Amino acid sequence: MGDLGAEGPEWRERAACLRHPAVLFFGMDDAEAPGDRREREERAKLVCRECIVRLECLSHALEAREPYGIWGGLNEVERKARLRAMAKAART
Ligand code: SF4
Repeated sequence: MGDLGAEGPEWRERAACLRHPAVLFFGMDDAEAPGDRREREERAKLVCRECIVRLECLSHALEAREPYGIWGGLNEVERKARLRAMAKAART
């Protein structure tokens, strides 16, 4: 989740990522090398794994269609896959 500012739901105040730089969750820019990105994302996901508000965070990110960054332990590609799987399950 990174640095989202002081406003927002209560769960954000208990986010483990508040103790880490936002760049760990969002990267620096589009020029990030794929290997560097993978490594950074894995480090961010380790933070998420220990986060007590992971479910709230992921739920928010899916609902808000957050387009960038690691939220709830998933990157944007993984969140899109999760949304597709949820939509598919809802149709069956
Ligand atoms: S799950 Fe990850 S991104 Fe979400 S609040 Fe926790 S540490 Fe931050």
